[in-house]
Amino acid sequence: MSLHFQGVGMTSMRTRERMIQRLREQGITDMRVLDVMLNTPRHLFLDEALAHRAYEDTALPIGHGQTLSQPYIVARMTELLLGTAGKLDKVLEVGTGSGYQTTVLAQLVPHVYSVERIKPLQDKAKERLRELSLRNVSLKHADGGFGWPEMGPYKGIISTAAPQAVPEELLKQLAPGGVLVIPLGGREQHLHLFIREEERENYITRVIEPVKFVPFLSGTAR
Ligand code: SAH
Repeated sequence: MSLHFQGVGMTSMRTRERMIQRLREQGITDMRVLDVMLNTPRHLFLDEALAHRAYEDTALPIGHGQTLSQPYIVARMTELLLGTAGKLDKVLEVGTGSGYQTTVLAQLVPHVYSVERIKPLQDKAKERLRELSLRNVSLKHADGGFGWPEMGPYKGIISTAAPQAVPEELLKQLAPGGVLVIPLGGREQHLHLFIREEERENYITRVIEPVKFVPFLSGTAR
């Protein structure tokens, strides 16, 4: 799939190529991820006033106190998801936000289910996904702490907000051999992987690296 939105000036292909070069220097090696991020118009996920900064190596505000994650962390989490679980069918994302990570994932896996607790963010993301004609994404306005059990189990689950401890419901919704990629902690956070064993309901934990995410909150907001 390729998304045909070219952009000009600071959102041009050259600017995007520089972002990809930086991601490679930062250690991202999965070509599928690099290719999709090269071709995904990140500037469309920001307000116009911030669009010219879209390809910088930084997180950017998307309103309601939330942020679009920096390109490196989107790439890293996607690479971990693809590289750990084997062949992915369905992926659950908690924290749709702008819909950028959702869009990257939707070009790499058959179907993405994404849950967001703040209604106006979800509405905006839905609109963008429609503009990009992404049809393999389902969105829901809900507290992702409960996952999306009706659609599970999932080979891959990704959370783009950080709880203090891993939500039990997300572990429960992992398919055998599946992986949960999630930041955990408060002021100090680390990216974690929870890999469900094939044969029994047991999880292998891996701590990846320090990160900085917005907090994982309970309940929903309008
Ligand atoms: N992936 C997003 C990142 C947005 S920041 C992007 O690419 O833009 C994280 C998002 O997680 C925020 O929008 C926040 O509202 C949402 N969030 C936090 N706790 C949540 C929860 N329990 N359920 C669903 N969404 C949650």
